[in-house]
Amino acid sequence: MLWLVSLVVVAAIVLAAYISRQRVRRTLATEGMEGRLLYSDANRRGAVLKCESLGLKGKPDYVFEHDGQLIVIERKKREVTNQRPYEGELLQIAAYCVLAEERFGNEVKVGRLQYLNETIDVPFTAELRQRMVATLEQMRRAEQAGEAHRSHHRRNACAKCGFKSRCGEALA
Ligand code: SF4
Repeated sequence: MLWLVSLVVVAAIVLAAYISRQRVRRTLATEGMEGRLLYSDANRRGAVLKCESLGLKGKPDYVFEHDGQLIVIERKKREVTNQRPYEGELLQIAAYCVLAEERFGNEVKVGRLQYLNETIDVPFTAELRQRMVATLEQMRRAEQAGEAHRSHHRRNACAKCGFKSRCGEALA
């Protein structure tokens, strides 16, 4: 009898995961996102992605594969003005692009920032990658010198931050 209960529980878990995934797909499809969904942190259930060589960890909202290319998507709970993301948002999406490349073994060309009022595609260029790596290096040096300080109190921002593993003042 116990095996039957276990079977029902496992089936329920698999079904719930399937339904959740289908729901994410439907939501994304209505928002015009195409391609194969490789990763989702919807419901905060995505695995933590890691890049050991840079000491990075993080959870982007979605990773898609479309026409053989990876697209990393991060949703923002604010409106953007003049198509100008904050520097921190650009560095965060760059960190997520690195994490997606590491996890899925494919190059990322574009990170996508989805604001409440519009979507901005951020080309993941060598220059942006370099800026992100240089920022990590600065953080490392500031941390060693005891000079790194948080400039906000947003727990959610820290929870999803690509630099969390290198930050001495993370709130989550
Ligand atoms: S984890 Fe650190 S770097 Fe990231 S948002 Fe929080 S305070 Fe800023």
